[in-house]
Amino acid sequence: MHAPTPIEASLDPTDWATFRAQAHQVLDDTLTYLETIGQRPVWQPPTPEALASYQAPLPETPGGFEAAYAEFLKHIVPHTIGNPHPRFWGWVQGGGTPQLVLAELLATALNTNSAIGNHVGLYLELQVLGWLKALLGWPATASGLLTSGASMANVVALTVARNSLTGTDVRAEGLAPLGGKLRVYSSAETHNCVHKALDLIGLGRIALRSVPVDADYRINLAALEGAIAEDRAAGLLPFALVGNAGTVNTGATDPLDALADIATREQLWYHIDGAFGALAWLVPEQRAALRGLQRADSLSFDLHKWPAIPYEAGCVLVKDAEKHRAAFASPTSYLAHHPRGLSAGPDPLANYGPELSRGFRALKVWFGLKVHGPAEYRRIIAQNIAQAQYLAAQVAATPELELLAPAPLNIVCYRYRSEGLGEAALNALNKDLLMALHEQGLAAPTYTLLGGRYAIRVAHTNHRSTHADFDALVADTLRLGRALRVAYA
Ligand SMILES: *Cc1c(COP(=O)(O)O)cnc(C)c1O
Repeated sequence: MHAPTPIEASLDPTDWATFRAQAHQVLDDTLTYLETIGQRPVWQPPTPEALASYQAPLPETPGGFEAAYAEFLKHIVPHTIGNPHPRFWGWVQGGGTPQLVLAELLATALNTNSAIGNHVGLYLELQVLGWLKALLGWPATASGLLTSGASMANVVALTVARNSLTGTDVRAEGLAPLGGKLRVYSSAETHNCVHKALDLIGLGRIALRSVPVDADYRINLAALEGAIAEDRAAGLLPFALVGNAGTVNTGATDPLDALADIATREQLWYHIDGAFGALAWLVPEQRAALRGLQRADSLSFDLHKWPAIPYEAGCVLVKDAEKHRAAFASPTSYLAHHPRGLSAGPDPLANYGPELSRGFRALKVWFGLKVHGPAEYRRIIAQNIAQAQYLAAQVAATPELELLAPAPLNIVCYRYRSEGLGEAALNALNKDLLMALHEQGLAAPTYTLLGGRYAIRVAHTNHRSTHADFDALVADTLRLGRALRVAYA
């Protein structure tokens, strides 16, 4: 007797020929979209209809690819954040490249899990980590991991720092034996993901000593040394120092070499958050400002910002590979290494971070580094810094505009000003002005507050911007500022 054969399902297309035609159409549409990106508004607020579509319930029956794609074109494409646009300079974001759209397509097709095993997912990640170490002047013996971004890279690095404390087995005993005494030092300009990382690794915000900065937004070394001494005298346990290579507000770089001296003397784990700024190392003229970058115990940086690898891609490097491994490796039978077969291969990457399953991030990084090459990245990074300096010079030369902070790298903070307007009025006017830039789809800088002043903040890691885009930003700022100032007079 045989059971009746069930009709067995799979999720693959039932009609490959139709699906193939759809796929070609999607690729064509995608390339047209990217080729003409600069002709559209930087940003368009979601329409009420689009917002309603984002709240629609999920139908039980399959709708098919064509219907979903039609909805994608209508309600999704027009309302993205806008970072691939040449006039997007918000937060710190990269714009991706069309070539790497294909890399992502291929990575998704291979759908490789890069946690463990004897396969290319691990070999390629180790290869790109090796390339990145070499590009940044880090030793080949350092370990590393591709992460979702610098936030996760900072979590990994600070976990290694915490678990490397001599005299305490944090992984076995937790933090209780340390009685809330651990302290980390970094400048007041440090990115808030470092605060979050300390929350996550169980130290709490109390563990972070926020050290004042000088007029250039760099950490005040005397204040740092004072804070460490004060904490030691109070019986606390200073254990880590975080330096910044490019702060998120103004692009300031701490004196990394002097921080390395202090970390050595004080026996602190030295971590550098170089989310975008570390990549300036590729440009020879920028190296003096980054002296000391190679002296850190760990370094975080993003590949989705300056190198324009599509989201998400960040990286952490750790000088002492054994400490890195000891912070995360956790032996178990189903992950055991074998002498041959699929369970052989390199040390599982899952031993170097909190996640087991991991996508094939390395493939887009591999494509990016090979397609664009260090030479193109050097050129774009240098070009972006020069363009930011050009914008800063335009602002400085225009009486109705004001630079609100030094612009040492690729971030320019400025505002519109007008005779007779007080600080409160200028803050309100510039906020209105920024929203008008966004709402009219003209440009997308974002904002920060510097000494109580509302700053329009241009963070430039955009390989598509030209001088004309910055001229347009200045012209638009002046036009909107003049129109708004009457309302605030
Ligand atoms: C962007 C940024 C981060 C956070 O990185 P993500 O990739 O967004 O997680 C951390 N530090 C600095 C200085 C940054 O610019």
